[in-house]
Amino acid sequence: MPLPRVAIIGAGIAGLTVASALRNRAEVSIIEKSRGVGGRLATRRAGDVSFDHGAQFFTARSKAFSNFLQPWLETGVVQPWNPRVLTLEVGAKPYRRDWFEPHYVGAPSMTALPKALAAVLAPKLQWEVTSVERMGDHWWLHSIDSKKTGPFDWIVATAPAPQILQWFPPQFSGMDALQQVRYAPCFALMLAYTQLPELHWDVARVKSSPIDWIVRGNSRPDQHGQQTMLLHSTHTWAHEQQNTNFDNIELTLRQALEDILNQPMPAPLLSLLHRWSYAATVQTTQLPFELDAVNSLAACGDWSAFSNADNGGARVEAAFSSANALAEQLLALPEFAA
Ligand SMILES: Cc1cc2nc3c(=O)[nH]c(=O)nc-3n(C[C@H](O)[C@H](O)[C@H](O)COP(=O)(O)OP(=O)(O)OC[C@H]3O[C@@H](n4cnc5c(N)ncnc54)[C@H](O)[C@@H]3O)c2cc1C
Repeated sequence: MPLPRVAIIGAGIAGLTVASALRNRAEVSIIEKSRGVGGRLATRRAGDVSFDHGAQFFTARSKAFSNFLQPWLETGVVQPWNPRVLTLEVGAKPYRRDWFEPHYVGAPSMTALPKALAAVLAPKLQWEVTSVERMGDHWWLHSIDSKKTGPFDWIVATAPAPQILQWFPPQFSGMDALQQVRYAPCFALMLAYTQLPELHWDVARVKSSPIDWIVRGNSRPDQHGQQTMLLHSTHTWAHEQQNTNFDNIELTLRQALEDILNQPMPAPLLSLLHRWSYAATVQTTQLPFELDAVNSLAACGDWSAFSNADNGGARVEAAFSSANALAEQLLALPEFAA
């Protein structure tokens, strides 16, 4: 029997996890709109410096995710990260905030893990899906530049739920569930200096400020020598800035940085601002994934029940768990039988 042809939309951790699990039992095609893989496991390069401006680290609380990471820990693609963490607040004494579970990062950058996973999967890049169409017994995908690819027996969507809603067909049984999903935004400010001021910490969790998180680039494994800082805003503050222009957002965050450090900062050599629309889940679905066996459509990602508040919200591990659970369910279907 020919292998089922499966299109997986999205080459973030969820898409790459499903693809890795199915690849020996299906003809897998990964379709990704960006120039590279990783999704929100993201790295921005600018000249000699780079910034991991999306996910900052991941933890592995489940056996399945620990097992998945193990070979990459052995090869150094994933490395433990043990920064000195302080809590900072204007007018308050800083205090240490130790981490009590291992935290991991990709090395030399966050995209290292998705790149390693994608190496055997040959994703189709710069292919932005705009619609999914049923023709006869098969599915076809249409792109933003009027291209078409197919035929597929199954479509698995792994983008943030609001994006899937834009192109998945109304007959998909998970449509109502996806409509419930809400995300919160976040601004990432990337700063490069000739020389950073001397600081006695690597990561600061910030209180009572538009800034939530500051990390010194050179504190991460394999990024020594980078005179960079990455700031993440709070989700609430980012949400309030919907009508503020980027110049003002950048100025406010840079002023907040000086306030927190209680010192003027040198003019940065580089200052880049990015807005993440899907940084944290405010509301998730009830199920670990959405599977519609009648229509041969499925969806998974960091908006599933694995990301509910009890589990710590949208996280790399939650996206993995959703994808892993979906892959197990798909592989149990007769058409994916070995
Ligand atoms: C600022 C920020 C900080 C974070 N910090 C952490 C952290 O410290 N720890 C942690 O565990 N998690 C963190 N997260 C969350 C974590 O990054 C996500 O939960 C996880 O990466 C989601 O993976 P995913 O595969 O579900 O989605 P994504 O990574 O978003 O992957 C979806 C993919 O689909 C692609 N796509 C979308 N639309 C289309 C289309 N139309 N056609 C083709 N392709 C498409 C996208 O380009 C993307 O590559 C953070 C996220 C952000 C934004």
